Amino acid sequence: MSTISNLENGQELLYRLERSINPSLSPIMKAIIDLSNQDKLPLYLVGGPLRDLLLGRPIVDIDLVTEGNSHELANAVANKITCRMIPYPRFKTVTLYKDTARLDLATSRVEHYKASGSLPTVFLSNISQDLMRRDFTINSMALGISKINQATLIDPTDGLADLHQKLIRAQHSNSFTDDATRILRAIRYEQRLSFTIESQTLNWMLEAQSNDIFSTITPDRLRKEIGIIFREEQPLKVFKRVAKLQTLEAIFKPLSKSNWMESESLDKQLDPLVWVGILAYALNLDEAHEFILRLNMPNKWSKVVLDTIKLKSAISVLAKTSLSVLQLCELFDKIHRSSLKAVSLINPDSQVKSHIGQYLEHYRNVKPLLNGKDLIKLGIPEGPLVGKLLNKIKLARLNGKITTKTEEKKIATSWLSKMLT
Ligand code: ATP
Repeated sequence: MSTISNLENGQELLYRLERSINPSLSPIMKAIIDLSNQDKLPLYLVGGPLRDLLLGRPIVDIDLVTEGNSHELANAVANKITCRMIPYPRFKTVTLYKDTARLDLATSRVEHYKASGSLPTVFLSNISQDLMRRDFTINSMALGISKINQATLIDPTDGLADLHQKLIRAQHSNSFTDDATRILRAIRYEQRLSFTIESQTLNWMLEAQSNDIFSTITPDRLRKEIGIIFREEQPLKVFKRVAKLQTLEAIFKPLSKSNWMESESLDKQLDPLVWVGILAYALNLDEAHEFILRLNMPNKWSKVVLDTIKLKSAISVLAKTSLSVLQLCELFDKIHRSSLKAVSLINPDSQVKSHIGQYLEHYRNVKPLLNGKDLIKLGIPEGPLVGKLLNKIKLARLNGKITTKTEEKKIATSWLSKMLT
């Protein structure tokens, strides 16, 4: 459970920040502060890291806002310190990476949405205006960290009070029509922090989603937002709430059939691709194709979706008690590992679980000792036949017919001679 620590004193917060920051980022942070001090420019810690600092939660990435030019500042930092820098001129932001740590530096700005869900047009502003464009009050605070504004907490929307009351509160009634991804963000924060979505905010959310507001969100943005849920500490908790608020079906109607939410085996962190399979499990083939389009899924995701549907259609076979190693390999070899994992987690049949478990633990990893090049050396023509033969050798190994490399070679040459006659 998150509790607010006695860190509302700005100076205390700065000490805490120094202690909590990823050590890889310390030199970058110091350089940005020094350069801001030289130019007497206000610099702020904003958004998520400040919220987490106030809650005494660990800080992962750092978000800074300057009232100066973020790109010039980042260039000056990159001249002093080796780091990777990716500028986003359209949004007046720059991301700096050092090892696995990440720091976002933005110029304070306001955003105007021409239409619901569209990317905003960005204008320069001061820090208070910048905070007023943000999603929720608890994410709309700033802490001065350069000399000119050191240790000043700026909180134009009373975020601190909401942090005390554990409330997720949007700033205005159009928040969710401006950007429907905020609906998922609200639920994510609510579940992650064990907060409550404030009642008016909840009404605004539900009204926006009943007006089909998700249709204004591009597939790529929607996929990105769902992908963030996959990486939460407790994704199942978030999905249960998403389902309860009927947000899942507002995103894609057939997902309302999802009945895996009660499965305790999902109450843990899983590979994001396994979650893709879990979401797909409720769908039929046509719906699966539509889902792939709705999220503009990359190849890996769509393979997991389609393989999950394929596996589902084979459930009655999988539930049979007697399936040989060869039958299991024939059924599973071409199926994505994440689909297998998803189905074994969701399907309640113990036989299905055991077949998939055995296959993943033992048979999936069995490989011939010979490789493709060895087969070509033996005279097998390059092309699909090589893969086919490797598979046959693997099956012969699984069957216990052969165990050594010499035996594999023997089998390959006998196949070759059969092929040539
Ligand atoms: P997390 O803790 O999950 O990393 P975060 O709070 O740091 O989340 P980000 O998604 O990294 O959030 O965004 C950084 C900040 O930008 C947020 O704290 C919020 O102030 C603002 N923000 C992000 N997305 C939106 C949005 N869709 N609408 C308005 N403000 C947003």
